[in-house]
Amino acid sequence: MSSETSATRDAAAPFCPGFDENAPSDAIIQSSDGVRFYVHWAILGYVSHFFRNMQAFPPPSGADANTIYDGKPVIPLPEPHKVIEKLLLALYPHGSAAFAPINLNGVDGALEAARKYDIPIATFQLKAILLERDFLQANPHRIFAIACHHGYEDVAQAAAIASLDKKGEPFSTVWPPPAEYRLMSGLHHWKLHNFRQQCAGRLAKELRHTADAWDTTVIPNSGSMSAPASFGGVWWDRGAGHAAECGPMKVFDEDEEDDSDDSDSDEEMEAGMYFPAKWFRDHIRRCRVKCETTPSVDEVTKMVGHISAETLAALAPCAVCSKAAPFELISFARALKGVLTQAVEQEASKMKFTA
Ligand SMILES: [Zn+2]
Repeated sequence: MSSETSATRDAAAPFCPGFDENAPSDAIIQSSDGVRFYVHWAILGYVSHFFRNMQAFPPPSGADANTIYDGKPVIPLPEPHKVIEKLLLALYPHGSAAFAPINLNGVDGALEAARKYDIPIATFQLKAILLERDFLQANPHRIFAIACHHGYEDVAQAAAIASLDKKGEPFSTVWPPPAEYRLMSGLHHWKLHNFRQQCAGRLAKELRHTADAWDTTVIPNSGSMSAPASFGGVWWDRGAGHAAECGPMKVFDEDEEDDSDDSDSDEEMEAGMYFPAKWFRDHIRRCRVKCETTPSVDEVTKMVGHISAETLAALAPCAVCSKAAPFELISFARALKGVLTQAVEQEASKMKFTA
């Protein structure tokens, strides 16, 4: 064995010596900070022109010759071990769980290295890592910064959407901040902030829309779940046998005689514009006030599906609504979640985050 400095050490699995006895490594990549990665020439040559060309030439001799360690040629690369690790994880076939990256450290550098060493499969896999749900939810701002750095608009959009669910502080306040934050310009930061505000406004608008007045030509008498998401609820069902003062209410029209006899609730709806039951409109209004500035679809839909003490009191006079509302508000919140998710995706598609 050749001599080694005290700082030099072997990489962890799956690039440690003897990781797979059936496929022994035949080369070592050494990072700038002295970590040895045990690799396979055949795999490197298959995925990368850079390594293929390196293999095609006779090895250098003399003072510049690569050292040999453990009987294998050592290829020194200028990248630190965090970057080399992510690059190798992205270019190797994923034979076991050991090949799944457990964090984002080094991913930005690995994307640069993938370009430099001409390894398209690594670029593809690294982008896929950035879009993994768990990483997006835990680190949306780091991923957003990496996406801005490399001009990946699709990744930036996904990260911006994921960042909407971060409560309170939009960015990590832990010191030191994640290294990737330096990749983001003031303009990128502004766009993300602007997007949050756009989404908060859009969610409030969509929420208001669910309690709008609708024409009888559109309102189903019962049952069907169609747009807006609130149509399936008892609050729209004229024939449900509501208490007096409950159920859908006709919008008063000055040109018509006001037929104020609402006692026969089984009566077919007259043609015209109707609001959903008053308790429902009040419930939505209270939700809107409470989540006026939140751009989070999860938070808004949780609030809509939850019966507050005020809503419970407003329901009490109507036996039909008291019985049906707890379940139907949950179904409504679920349907609304789909609508709001689409709305947020639409807002994201209007942005040019990385430009
Ligand atoms: Zn009712």
